[in-house]
Amino acid sequence: MPANKKAMALASLLLTRGGYSYERSIPKTQVNGLKILIELKAVVPGPFDSRYASCSFCGLHRGPVFRIDGAMHVQCPDCGPYKVDLSEQRNWAIDTEWMIRKLRSALNIPAHIAVQKLYEGVWQIGVYKKRAVLLAQRIELVMTHALHLFHGATPRPDSWVITPGPLGKMSSDPLSGTATWWHLEDRFSIHGQGLRLVSLENDVGTTLAEPKSEPVHGPFSETFEWVHLPSFSNEPVRLSAAQAAIFRVLWRYKGQPQSAETIMRKAHLSSDKLIDVFKVKAANRGDPLYEGPMYAYQTLVIRNRRLGMYSLEITPAIFDPLGSKI
Ligand SMILES: [Zn+2]
Repeated sequence: MPANKKAMALASLLLTRGGYSYERSIPKTQVNGLKILIELKAVVPGPFDSRYASCSFCGLHRGPVFRIDGAMHVQCPDCGPYKVDLSEQRNWAIDTEWMIRKLRSALNIPAHIAVQKLYEGVWQIGVYKKRAVLLAQRIELVMTHALHLFHGATPRPDSWVITPGPLGKMSSDPLSGTATWWHLEDRFSIHGQGLRLVSLENDVGTTLAEPKSEPVHGPFSETFEWVHLPSFSNEPVRLSAAQAAIFRVLWRYKGQPQSAETIMRKAHLSSDKLIDVFKVKAANRGDPLYEGPMYAYQTLVIRNRRLGMYSLEITPAIFDPLGSKI
């Protein structure tokens, strides 16, 4: 990925996160992007207190910094004392005013059209081709306020909505029929000291082909990355690489129970238990992107807890040679 593109991806990430991000929490591959954003003054440094440092292990606590034999250490209440690199303690936030200014100039929005803050993290930054332009930190903020934003006292028909790309995969465009959704990092690129609107024609052919989702092995796709579960959703459920690896191994055993150890070894995974790979974190509960794989695990995998054995549920439907019906 070219450096400017990485910088734009990082700008989107920082906008999504909001607030200040520690330098060490920025993906290693995007550190060069940070340099570019600093040069452009697209990011602002956060407060820096050399007496306290945030823990690099748990990321939860801050602890006092002290010196042993010339090296700086931090005392995390949970993780104990360890050597700390204070340069990693610098933190940065995206300068939303910079972002708004540059987006407006990329869209040639005249100066007399004012910027309005509509909600926390949602702004109307102007008008483009006679339609309102909204910027939001996250698409979820737009969805939460959609009724008011698009059909309220000031209706905004067919708006342009600019947000960073979604954090998870979305099976469909949530604004379809209401507004045009632009992913910030795809639609705008860094150009000189500012941003440029990427022309629509350039998109054709650049979108990556999605892996095929049709059922090939029973309800699973060719690569096991999709599983069809009509009792859960009409759309196939997307599995992570680890989840797909587990199902691929179980599929090979055709319902013959195996120990967790065997399955995990054959799937080249390091966890002890299958469930580790499917567990839904508290923050993701209720999100079909995460609940779908868990549902697949619960409905398709037979667990014998006493013996610690696992197998794929064998029903004629699952092993239907035609594969497509379940
Ligand atoms: Zn800690």
